[in-house]
Amino acid sequence: GAAARLTHIKNPISLVRKIMDVSEHVMLVGDGAEIFAGENGIEIVDSSYFFTEKRWQGLLKIKEKENAVDNKGSANLVSEYPDSKFGTVGCAALDKNGNLAAGTSTGGMTNKKYGRVGDSPIIGAGTYANNNTCAVSATGHGEYFIRATVAHDISALMEYKGMNLNDAANDVINRKLSNMGGTGGVIAIDKNGNIAMPFNTGGMFRGYVLDDGKFIVKMYKE
Ligand code: ASP
Repeated sequence: GAAARLTHIKNPISLVRKIMDVSEHVMLVGDGAEIFAGENGIEIVDSSYFFTEKRWQGLLKIKEKENAVDNKGSANLVSEYPDSKFGTVGCAALDKNGNLAAGTSTGGMTNKKYGRVGDSPIIGAGTYANNNTCAVSATGHGEYFIRATVAHDISALMEYKGMNLNDAANDVINRKLSNMGGTGGVIAIDKNGNIAMPFNTGGMFRGYVLDDGKFIVKMYKE
């Protein structure tokens, strides 16, 4: 399930789970997605719920810089403003029955325009799960993740080339994506519970928990 261009949905992952479970569709966007949400008991909030002073100041700062460099637009955001951060939250999980699942929730990139949709809701780009291979959730400069179909590529390397999760995820992030000029990373888990979390940026806040119940949290490269 997937949804994009939401402005009133408190928990987008609950909405896309509903889309997956009860609608005959995979992806809904905009007003239609919100009407579906209302009809299916998904919590709707005023858009002011999402306001934070920090993000507002971040937006003003980028707009100011953008005006100064002659209206370049969000396509150049990361290279023009290397201090811009990705704010996506994702998860990948394996349950005791061998089911793999991934979810990704994002506000997109700061100062996005023109109804821009990133990779997070595009199944196979920023999010993918397949019980035969792995579950993947991505964060990074979405345009590149869409072009490289990052999440599905990792699964495909495992499925068609017999690669293990670590090699497949590293190949896609540190070779393919990097060669294209894309920045970001993924968290991924395979059907045997192996974990890979490669990224080609300075840091990626991430964590995992295994059977022993111990939470491991990391921020930068080891
Ligand atoms: N991938 C997201 C996007 O391009 C941004 C992020 O990861 O924070 O919309």
